[in-house]
Amino acid sequence: MATGTINVQAENIFPIIKKFLYSEHEIFLRELVSNAVDATSKLKTLQKLGEIEGELGDTKIEVSIDKKKGTLTVSDKGIGMTQEEVEKYLNQVAFSGASEFLKKYEGKADDAGIIGNFGLGFYSAFMVSKKVEVISLSHKEGAEAVKWTCEGNPEYTIEPAKKKTRGTDIVLHIFDDDKEFLEDHRIQGILDKFCKFLPVEIKFGTKSEWIDDPKGEKDKDGNVKQIEKKVDNIINNPNPAWKKSPVDLKDEDYKSFYRELYPMTFEEPLFNIHLNVDYPFNLTGILYFPRLKDKFELQKNKIQLYSNQVFITDSVENIVPEFLTLLHGVIDSPDIPLNVSRSYLQTDSNVRKISSHISKKVADKLAEMFKNDREDFKKKWDDIRIFIEYGMLTDEKFYDRIKDVYLFKNTEGEYFTIEEYKTKIEENQKNKDNKLVFLYTTNKEEQHEYIQNAKNRDYDVLELEGPLTSHIVGRFEMKLENTSFARADADTIDKLIEKKDTPKSNLTEDQEKQLKEIIEGVVNKETYNVQFESMSEKDNPMVITRPEFMRRMKEQSETGGGGMYGMGNLPDSYNLVVNANHPLVSKILIETDADKAKQLTKQATDLAMLSQGLLKGEALSNFIKRSVDLIEK
Ligand code: ADP
Repeated sequence: MATGTINVQAENIFPIIKKFLYSEHEIFLRELVSNAVDATSKLKTLQKLGEIEGELGDTKIEVSIDKKKGTLTVSDKGIGMTQEEVEKYLNQVAFSGASEFLKKYEGKADDAGIIGNFGLGFYSAFMVSKKVEVISLSHKEGAEAVKWTCEGNPEYTIEPAKKKTRGTDIVLHIFDDDKEFLEDHRIQGILDKFCKFLPVEIKFGTKSEWIDDPKGEKDKDGNVKQIEKKVDNIINNPNPAWKKSPVDLKDEDYKSFYRELYPMTFEEPLFNIHLNVDYPFNLTGILYFPRLKDKFELQKNKIQLYSNQVFITDSVENIVPEFLTLLHGVIDSPDIPLNVSRSYLQTDSNVRKISSHISKKVADKLAEMFKNDREDFKKKWDDIRIFIEYGMLTDEKFYDRIKDVYLFKNTEGEYFTIEEYKTKIEENQKNKDNKLVFLYTTNKEEQHEYIQNAKNRDYDVLELEGPLTSHIVGRFEMKLENTSFARADADTIDKLIEKKDTPKSNLTEDQEKQLKEIIEGVVNKETYNVQFESMSEKDNPMVITRPEFMRRMKEQSETGGGGMYGMGNLPDSYNLVVNANHPLVSKILIETDADKAKQLTKQATDLAMLSQGLLKGEALSNFIKRSVDLIEK
């Protein structure tokens, strides 16, 4: 037996390793199993190169627990290490790798810093172990097995071992504090999280399978008896769909891989994009479009990031543009630097290239779907619109790539591209300043009367529901020339698309003053701004409108973005527009009984509020009671 000191000038890093990111202790298993996979892959490469003759035999990796001894073991049948290699790789390479990582990490414990905590490698075993033994037999001819032992201090021992089969066993003597890592379900959970798609089969315990009785014995119904058989419990799928060639995959294969990724999700994805790049960076993956509808915040953090099939993280912000985090699926790239802090990522040139590549691929796919089968694209539109709008709002290039396939849907359920829609409304919906006015509704039910008014003028109304509407219409106004957007209730119908200058009011200034006083006596004048307008006798006596600009400001401050953060809650603001030509208005003016005039006014303002959905609670009860009284009279 020989002893040695790992590195004389290094201070004792073991206490630091032990403390390292307490909640992330579980990653030691990912590190050790990854090493086992590497050792196995190297062996396969050597065989391909002809440096190893004959069959490799079983190459399964095995993870096992011995509760009595308090050990967790990771065994591989990979290349193994000679004594020289153990001293070189574990004492020098691995040790200096770990110290370098810890130096970088020091003081950043709160900054969830290094992506997926990559870099600690083999030495992460000491996060959970009081003693680590490495028993290895190299694949090299005539090699002798060795055993390296280290008890969490700079001294180690190395001695001959009895191992007969090629490969390496890493035996962890788990700390008393970390006994959870001797529980089957805990280890199964970690393997499921990090190792589910590693490229070498990994066995963890056994499971039962029911097979036909090999002796052919039959039960009383004459069927072959089923007998229980213990088989290896393989925890991973070494050949996941994203690593295959798209030509070898059918729609059903993509769907079943989706279920493999998200066993708890029952909804099927709408469609997917298979990513496959070799140059100038390496990237594979499959992105799925979920049915988003209006579910906006809920969906994030579903994309899983892998590096050569090793799970790294499911929080990919800073790696892909934010709007893409609404998608699901897998991205696998060994070219994303993992031992840097998250904030550094955005400035990394590879990450920037990868991110813009993905964004371009997604736009291309959508454009291609539109071109190939517009009918089908249309069917998916309502489910993906919010994703597309989010992308158009946050990624200038994405806007340009996607603008020709953005679809407007009107209240008749017809779909138009932006250009098609412009042509459709060009004739009828230009105002006196030659501006094209896009009318829209955010709620067909609630804004029914306003939509109806627009339709009576043969105007078309778009359906633009959803949390991003006020942002996206603002963006369109910036991008499309000579165009404005107005919600159907933003003004009285003749003001929405003003054709010529209409006289303001038929009432004298005195009459307006008199009427305004009566109205302000029955409504809250902080909220309702009373105005007069000459409308048709057939229009309602009073209309409540919500000025487009103020409403949009308020909505944007609520959803955030567009520089509207921190504006707090803006108050609601409405216009109460009085139709100066309506007979009821004259009736109120000539009414000599002040109480009666007030009652009529209240009835008219209540009706206006009712059609905006603003009449509630006590006000609504009073309105009903007053209406009954009026009918009785
Ligand atoms: P990394 O894997 O990033 O190089 P590690 O600290 O995890 O860093 O491991 C250091 C080195 O030890 C590896 O590069 C490899 O040469 C060797 N090694 C670790 N585990 C094994 C193993 N199971 N079989 C063979 N060699 C191994």
